[in-house]
Amino acid sequence: MKGIIVKQTETGNCLEYQDVPAPHLESSDLLIEVMASGVNRTDLMTRNRQAGYADGPVPTEVERVELGVEISGVVVQIGDAVTDFSVGDHVMGLVDGGGYAEYARMPASRAMHIPEGLEFTDAAAIPEVFLTAYQNLFWHGQLSEGKTVLIHAGASGVGTAAIQLVKQVPNTTVIVTAGSQEKLTFCQSLGADVLINYKEENFTERVLEATEGRGADIIMDFVGASYWSRNLESIAVEGRWLLIGALGGSLVPEVQLFDLMKKFVTLTGTLLTPRTAEYKARLSHEFLARFGQAFTDGQLRPVVDQVFDLSEAEAAQQRMKDNLNTGKILLTNRS
Ligand code: NAP
Repeated sequence: MKGIIVKQTETGNCLEYQDVPAPHLESSDLLIEVMASGVNRTDLMTRNRQAGYADGPVPTEVERVELGVEISGVVVQIGDAVTDFSVGDHVMGLVDGGGYAEYARMPASRAMHIPEGLEFTDAAAIPEVFLTAYQNLFWHGQLSEGKTVLIHAGASGVGTAAIQLVKQVPNTTVIVTAGSQEKLTFCQSLGADVLINYKEENFTERVLEATEGRGADIIMDFVGASYWSRNLESIAVEGRWLLIGALGGSLVPEVQLFDLMKKFVTLTGTLLTPRTAEYKARLSHEFLARFGQAFTDGQLRPVVDQVFDLSEAEAAQQRMKDNLNTGKILLTNRS
């Protein structure tokens, strides 16, 4: 089969589309013919780790596909122990790497049937960002009626999913930040109530103004260090601060812990990729049961920015690195 490999070069690394070994199937797995796969920031980190730029195993020339944590496609083979899927089923879900390929292995325990009416490219835009937004908002954030949620990077893949999920809960207010008017207008079309261009405005002032000085009940923070103080000022007493990314750095110098304690803030940090198979299965099942039908009914929609051919993975990742996307960048084998 064909797949994408990270190759080291004298000046860095590049992605190559080449022949690769097919995945090995365990008895509890599905073999999926991949129709589309999502591009994620975690792939950029895996790529750098493979090339030796970040913490992790010593780089070697890895000749199997490591990139790609989510796919949609058709089940072409089932492991001996699988009972609830059949060959020919259309599924989407998280994979343990290997999504940038023609075929991928997915543990059956976390596979989700694609909601009726969705194309494969819609479906591949769901797992990573909707599951991340869902677990953070509902499990860690305890989102409930009437809450105000500040979502940074509102036009990002996770941001576009989060806006929509918050608005499924009655009387909620969504405040978003983004770096351009176009991105903000898009967020508004998804239901965002308060739009802040962080390049032109002080988001803390706007959040306090929008909440009559109270602050946001929940903050979805993809930015981390560079927003630390401003998030602290923007969060309400007893607020829940969900740390999901570190686009603005991960090292916060001279943190005054009493600032967090005085406001009774709950700060949670999470990463989806390293979670256990059991966690991913539980999250996938609960999410699909609660919101699967909402995709078919049009209350939720996967936001697709651009679809690239699998062989163009380099260009697809570059678009993400350049912060150009609104919603999900996808790869397809079937164009
Ligand atoms: P994405 O679609 O690539 O969007 C990221 C956006 O963030 C960029 O387009 C840019 O939009 C904005 N941004 C970039 N650098 C920034 C900075 N320094 N300050 C403020 N805004 C910045 O990203 P994604 O795939 O949705 O992921 C979003 C974040 O969540 C990433 O950090 C990713 O690693 C993280 N994530 C975490 C988990 C988890 O389990 N913890 C899972 C999935 C993703 P503007 O033009 O608006 O600046």
